[in-house]
Amino acid sequence: MTTKTFGFSIFLLCLSTITFAQKQSAQRIPIIDVHLHATNENAASVEKVLQQMEDHHVVLAVLSGADRELAVAWKASAPHKFKIGPSFPCTDGMYPRMYPCFPENNGWPDLDWLRTEYEDGRMSALGEMLYVYYGISPADKQLDPYFKLAAELSIPVGVHAGHGPPPQSRMEGCCPNFKEEMGNPLLLKPVLDKYPDLKIWLMHGGEINFHDQAIQLMKAYPNVYADMSILNSVMPAELHARLLKSFIDAGLEDRLMFGSDNLPYGLILKRLNELDFLSDKQRRGILYDNAARFFDLSEETKVKHLGN
Ligand SMILES: [Zn+2]
Repeated sequence: MTTKTFGFSIFLLCLSTITFAQKQSAQRIPIIDVHLHATNENAASVEKVLQQMEDHHVVLAVLSGADRELAVAWKASAPHKFKIGPSFPCTDGMYPRMYPCFPENNGWPDLDWLRTEYEDGRMSALGEMLYVYYGISPADKQLDPYFKLAAELSIPVGVHAGHGPPPQSRMEGCCPNFKEEMGNPLLLKPVLDKYPDLKIWLMHGGEINFHDQAIQLMKAYPNVYADMSILNSVMPAELHARLLKSFIDAGLEDRLMFGSDNLPYGLILKRLNELDFLSDKQRRGILYDNAARFFDLSEETKVKHLGN
């Protein structure tokens, strides 16, 4: 969850041209969206999201869910289109968008329930982890059992890694303990040292304030990837281009993934398409290959995606 300007997103959605969707379709480039939230806010529905995915060749999306029933319903409506993980911790059991988030356990998913979800294959990711909103470090002992479980079961973990959203962009009542400094990716070092095989992706890629720290962490830990959601949509295009180039110049082109954070695909893809410093291989890596590797997709699944 991030800076949300839903009216703005609808406006941008209208701007996303059919021509561009057709171009993507003609190129048959499959896309994986690693940053999508299962939500029914503002009349969003799984049907609309699936249509947008179809229009832009998004073959798989990684869904964060805090409303268990809603998330499960989204997954059930198109099992092969979604991977799903729990989004938490939530202060007083309320998600930053002010709807219940694991209220039965005050904002934390029950560990035994979560283990069963993974073992039965209904869930296969962990995140978006919201410890920044909760006001604790990723190294806080309350989070350790979740990282331990993810490491044991090889579950990829997505963390909100950024300073935002600013107070004026948060909903009334959201997150009284919000601590932007907890979005510093380097705070994940003790977790990665304790669980060296754990795969973590930095959702929002450190945004602006923690960009350098994101690069430092990714250079030190090969299991750390990033998505550039929000930077690639609501932030200025020039800023997004500069930060993306900075990741690439740091040698991290194989660890950048496409994430929308529920913002319009057309806008984000148009930006990516217009970046003339990106090679076709780098662009394709961001859209599909890097996420396919990070989420360890089977050869069978990749063949299906590529044949779409
Ligand atoms: Zn976020």
